[in-house]
Amino acid sequence: MPVLSLREPVTLIQPEGDRKERLLRMCSWCRKVAAGDSVWLEIEEGIKHLGLFHEAVMPGVSHTMCDACVDALDNED
Ligand SMILES: [Zn+2]
Repeated sequence: MPVLSLREPVTLIQPEGDRKERLLRMCSWCRKVAAGDSVWLEIEEGIKHLGLFHEAVMPGVSHTMCDACVDALDNED
C-alpha cells in the first residue's frame, strides 16, 4: 500500500459551508435578532442590516435571549 495515501488532504471547514450553516440568533422573548456582538435589532431592521432580503435561503434560527432580556430577567425579583 502506498504511503502517500495516508496524506490525503481532509478539508473540515469550507467557507461556503460556513455561510450556509450560519445561524440567525433571535431573542425568543422580544424577537429581536442579533446583528453582531451585543447588537440587537428589531427583526425587520435586523434582516435589512444583515442583507437577508437578498439571500435565496434564509439562515436557520437559533433561539436565544438578547442582552436586554437577560438584564431584565436578572433584575426581576
Ligand atoms: Zn430580548
